[in-house]
Amino acid sequence: MNIAIAIDGPAGAGKSTIAKMAAKELSFIYVDTGALYRAIGLCAKQSDIGSKDVDKILEMLKTIKVELAFNDNKEQIVLLNGEDVSSLIRTPEISMYASDVSAIPEVRAFLLDLQRNMAKTNNIIMDGRDIGTVVLPDAKVKIFLTASPEVRAKRRYDELIEKGMDVNYEDVLSDVITRDYNDSHRETAPLKPAEDSVIVDTSGLDLQQSVEKLISIMKERM
Ligand code: C5P
Repeated sequence: MNIAIAIDGPAGAGKSTIAKMAAKELSFIYVDTGALYRAIGLCAKQSDIGSKDVDKILEMLKTIKVELAFNDNKEQIVLLNGEDVSSLIRTPEISMYASDVSAIPEVRAFLLDLQRNMAKTNNIIMDGRDIGTVVLPDAKVKIFLTASPEVRAKRRYDELIEKGMDVNYEDVLSDVITRDYNDSHRETAPLKPAEDSVIVDTSGLDLQQSVEKLISIMKERM
């Protein structure tokens, strides 16, 4: 029986960075489910479909293929119609597209089996917004990772600047607040801690401390 660890939380809480490091330490596969919603957002954008144009997005879903693969370093790659779009999806514009399309129930249903199948065949750490509540309700360990909006926006801002993007902090903060609101107020699978999750606030912790804290929770509960 494979072991699943669910990590949920708002944008910029450090889920992916921390989960990636923890997965390495535990020799688990890391799955970033946000990349799937981003791939659908990117597809809408490339097809000139508005992020809230539900009818057109539903039509689009009938014709697209989204897949996850892993490279030689065991890092996740997301494929949209066979093309590796892992870098193209990491822009603030696509973050907002992903947030909008993720509120559409059919988009969530479209991605559900893909996510569950990953957990059937691997020991995984999966991060997202509804992993502990909807995707893997039987996950062995559930963690809800959070931090203040300002701390999360600062981390996101530093990340984007490091990638050479031209962004300003106020815009990133406003995006973080808007996405938090959208993600926690949508009707289908809203962002919220699973009842049996451990809530970890990383506002006062640096990366190393956050990773250590998560690994110790995981080991204790596995
Ligand atoms: O995690 P990331 O910021 O890459 O996710 C992008 C967007 O995808 C989120 O703002 C959220 O709206 C959506 N998402 C989701 N459910 C998940 C993962 C991501 O709704 N499991």
